[in-house]
Amino acid sequence: MRSSRNFYAFVILTTLFAGTVSAKYDAQKTLHTPLRHSGDPLVLDAVPAPSGGIREEIPDAYKKRYQEWKAEFLSTDIGKAQWDLYAQHSRLLLTITVSRDNENGAGSGKYKWSSSGELIAATVTLGAKLDEGFPTDVYYPVMNALEPYERKKLISGNVLAAAKIAHEFGHVMKIGTIPEPLYHLQLRLAPVYNKILLSNGHNVDDPRLVDLASQMGGNPVQIWEDREYWGEANAMLYLRDRVAKESFHCRLFNKIKRSVEEYAKPYEERFTAIAKSEGVIYSCSWR
Ligand SMILES: [Zn+2]
Repeated sequence: MRSSRNFYAFVILTTLFAGTVSAKYDAQKTLHTPLRHSGDPLVLDAVPAPSGGIREEIPDAYKKRYQEWKAEFLSTDIGKAQWDLYAQHSRLLLTITVSRDNENGAGSGKYKWSSSGELIAATVTLGAKLDEGFPTDVYYPVMNALEPYERKKLISGNVLAAAKIAHEFGHVMKIGTIPEPLYHLQLRLAPVYNKILLSNGHNVDDPRLVDLASQMGGNPVQIWEDREYWGEANAMLYLRDRVAKESFHCRLFNKIKRSVEEYAKPYEERFTAIAKSEGVIYSCSWR
């Protein structure tokens, strides 16, 4: 039952990842949110295709904690399924590393595509103190919702770390559905967009900005928040399995729902799909 349930959730998620999501423009967010989450170094050099799988490059000092975070992620069916998907991937090489930079955060980048347009390399960098630090509920409604439960010692910091790993896996999954030319176009045009925005009195109706946004498939904030909410959707998928048997699962999911409704309304559908996915015995207030 559980594996078929997870297969179904996988299908839902991959279908959603592949879809396009429209977002209403929120000028206020533009002013405060730089396009900066994932390093996204632009690598255009032609490189030979590496063989696929997961390569863990963990400095000795962080190996013990990394194994705890990984074990927590793998303790769920969905975490195990997603890990195996990449560990057994024949073409995509996923490198995972731990760094002192951005110690409570994480990032995904160093993407490479094959000449046929297939994603063949990605790197997930985890902060050295991944098990601490709760990001804002405005953009991170899932990870943020864990805060009171961690404070009351109902969950450990390892669950937070595993949710952050799931968030990054969500980024990698989503990038795998974006055509490489569009990705690089977005990287190239976002700074151009932001420069004009800063010089025109933040007038988003400026025809130059309207044109750039239509080329990029959204303005830089929409593109950025769409990616972040995909990461959060995958973190929610992990938590759905992780807290299913906890007495507080409804309270936790209701908190996520409130944050999504308040800050992420245009993206609500992807969260609702997970809360209501086949086999989930509870949907709490997501009905
Ligand atoms: Zn992210």
